[in-house]
Amino acid sequence: MNLAFFHTLGCTAECDHCITHAGPRVRRTMPFEEARRIVQMAARSRYITGIIFTGGENLIHRRQILELVRECTELGLKTEIITNGYWATRPSAAAEIAGAFRKAGLGRMHLSIDRYHLPYVSAERIHVALQALGDAGFLREIACVVEHDHDVPIRPHVTEILAHGGSLPAVGDEAGIRGFLETLRTSWPRELLGLLERYGIDPAETIFVEEAVALRDRLRAVELADHIVQSRILVQYQGMATEGRGRILLGKEGEPRHVDLLPDDPCESVGRNPTVIPEGGFSPCCSSWVNFPGQILGQLFSEELDDVLDRMRNDPMVDFMYHQGPRALAKYLHDCGHALPDRYTHPCHTCGVLLESYSREELMKHIEAFYLQHPERRVLTARGVRLVPESTLPIP
Ligand code: SF4
Ligand code: SF4
Repeated sequence: MNLAFFHTLGCTAECDHCITHAGPRVRRTMPFEEARRIVQMAARSRYITGIIFTGGENLIHRRQILELVRECTELGLKTEIITNGYWATRPSAAAEIAGAFRKAGLGRMHLSIDRYHLPYVSAERIHVALQALGDAGFLREIACVVEHDHDVPIRPHVTEILAHGGSLPAVGDEAGIRGFLETLRTSWPRELLGLLERYGIDPAETIFVEEAVALRDRLRAVELADHIVQSRILVQYQGMATEGRGRILLGKEGEPRHVDLLPDDPCESVGRNPTVIPEGGFSPCCSSWVNFPGQILGQLFSEELDDVLDRMRNDPMVDFMYHQGPRALAKYLHDCGHALPDRYTHPCHTCGVLLESYSREELMKHIEAFYLQHPERRVLTARGVRLVPESTLPIP
């Protein structure tokens, strides 16, 4: 499991959709000695195998992050950085930065791109950064946010690959690989293709991460997947979480749905993406939860990481979100007449509203009351059964 590490919430950009309210005027940065101590605790943790530096734009404190990455490498922790790429001002500067991180043992660097980043970091800089990352020996990876995630068809890609399982092209068959991936691309969301075009990135030079994973794991086409991934830009995309500034943005531009019509989905992320914020607070996910200091599950400046992780694994609120999801509680409270909004744009929006509307004690009481009304769901939870939506069922 990775620890998401918000070393800073300062940022060179101020994107309208930022979940964490990061920006140039934000002065929230973890003291360096505390950051080192947390890295050391992560290295002796029974659960943590890697650290992802994210939050705001961590590379504004480049020397410190370089030092932390070096320390992680020495201690055997894998590392990733999510960055907006502002630092790729010219090829020589970008090459120096990418090279230094490579030397420090950094595993992956993801560049965030989408229409909200574009006013702050130009497409030219993204191209310079991609070139520098590739030259330094990193995979070239971009992470995009799309606004209409309910239109994002993940499964068709994988289904398509499985359907083509018998006729996979060979590793050296460039024309065959190109044709194969072009077929798959017909089911990519139009919004994503439009975004790539805006950045001047040729979709034919990319591969969607889900496709690469499916090739590698499901079809055991390891060599083929590695060959494709190394020669192309790896694309990840996710729906806008609509929390932080994103909540205000989607209030204006989004298409909220009535709580009765929202999917009754459990949360895939809670307890799987533990996060530390610059003040040492510990959250069980890296989304809305980080914005509510009253709901943190621990304080890593004074507690041992594994003690907090043990607590998280047995936490009733985390357990509820993992097995039932925020919509279940929001609908229950709405039906009971609580003064909550009728409409939501995203599960993290629903969750954020719950976390800001009630104290932890109140939420625990409401969870108990929910289970009294839905005893069958408690029984299923006790048996480890999750009501997983069809779209996320494991692929056979
Ligand atoms: S989304 Fe990323 S780049 Fe934009 S303000 Fe937030 S942290 Fe900065
Ligand atoms: S739904 Fe809640 S617990 Fe799950 S990722 Fe979003 S904010 Fe975190």
